[in-house]
Amino acid sequence: MTRHIEMLDALFKHATEGIVVVNKAGTIVMLNPKAKELFGYSDVDLIGRKIETLIPQRFTKNHVQYRDNYLEAPRARGMGHLMDLFARKYDGSEFPVEVSLSPFKTSDGEFVVSFVIDITERKKQDTRIREANLEIQKLNAELEERVEQRTRELAEAVKKVEESQEEVIRALKKEKELNNMKSQFVTIASHEFRTPLATILSSASLIGRYVTTEDEEKRHKHVHRIKSAVNNLTEILNDFLSIGKLEEGRIHSVPVQVDLPAFCKNLIDEIQGLCKEGQKIHFVYSGATEVWLDKQLLKNILFNLLSNGIKYSDNGKQIFLTINADPETVHLEVRDQGIGIPAADQVNVFDRFFRAHNAGNTQGTGLGLNIVNNYVDIMGGSVSFISEVGKGSTFFVELPNVLP
Ligand code: ADP
Repeated sequence: MTRHIEMLDALFKHATEGIVVVNKAGTIVMLNPKAKELFGYSDVDLIGRKIETLIPQRFTKNHVQYRDNYLEAPRARGMGHLMDLFARKYDGSEFPVEVSLSPFKTSDGEFVVSFVIDITERKKQDTRIREANLEIQKLNAELEERVEQRTRELAEAVKKVEESQEEVIRALKKEKELNNMKSQFVTIASHEFRTPLATILSSASLIGRYVTTEDEEKRHKHVHRIKSAVNNLTEILNDFLSIGKLEEGRIHSVPVQVDLPAFCKNLIDEIQGLCKEGQKIHFVYSGATEVWLDKQLLKNILFNLLSNGIKYSDNGKQIFLTINADPETVHLEVRDQGIGIPAADQVNVFDRFFRAHNAGNTQGTGLGLNIVNNYVDIMGGSVSFISEVGKGSTFFVELPNVLP
């Protein structure tokens, strides 16, 4: 028995937890050296003082209440579950603690023993861990932001590469088209230039032979042939020039005020020279005489359509130019009684270099209608036609009549 008491005494003295025993009244009746050390009472006696001596003053009032409640139904338990507990030292300073309580009875009455651990270090560790966690969270967020930023940059770079790739492909396609056009140009030029040049050569040598006054009429005829052959060459060259300018995007519509009937009469006078025997251009005009249109583009459009009417009709056939100008739109109509365009070819007539199957030996490059289509487009208008083989064709052009 004595040995047991010695052992218990040793346990009590050498325990690393502070042990404080209070009686029912809350008075300290016993405490071990560790408790004295924890609370800074090594040299001061605590026996006989209230347990509240060891509690920060701001909690003492409530603590008396807690203590009374506890003693009504005492049981072993931890204290201050889920909340921070603080103890008060002799010098008044505070430190965080973990406390567990156990009630017991002896012949002297009821007591409560509390085991107290100083958790200052643990708290410090907790704080450090919390701070480290916060730092990690911050770094993570920064990292995510950086990853997102890099992803965005990467996506942008990929997009740029794709764009420049598309650009290269477009440029290559354009280059190929230009090359095709050049070779077509050479083919057509060499073919189309041959006839007018031959005409010029033969007419010129014939003129050289017609020396007498009686040959006057024949001379005139050949001079006329030379003139129209030169016109023909000029026309082909103009078409090529127009295509070149269109390709480069150098053609723009600049509407000016035009006296349209007068403008058309002048143009018809110019073109009349191209007419075959018995052919005539009939002109009918209605509506406002002053309109807003780009003169150069309009001239080209009418010239192409009228000269086609002449080219693709036989001697004696008539060509009609009918114009109606209303305040918003100028309606142009060029009708002929010519060979017409085969139904199967109609979808292609606006394509560059396209010539219908019935064009035969008629001189042409297949560029005129393509130019018309482009010019009408640039002027913000539209072009269409109806045609029947052997009966003739009618081309309709609508152009906006507006101030620029
Ligand atoms: P080109 O007259 O120089 O061949 P165009 O582009 O003006 O070129 O016309 C394209 C083709 O459309 C012509 O080759 C011809 O076959 C057909 N075409 C155009 N206008 C007429 C027309 N008024 N009558 C019959 N065919 C036409």
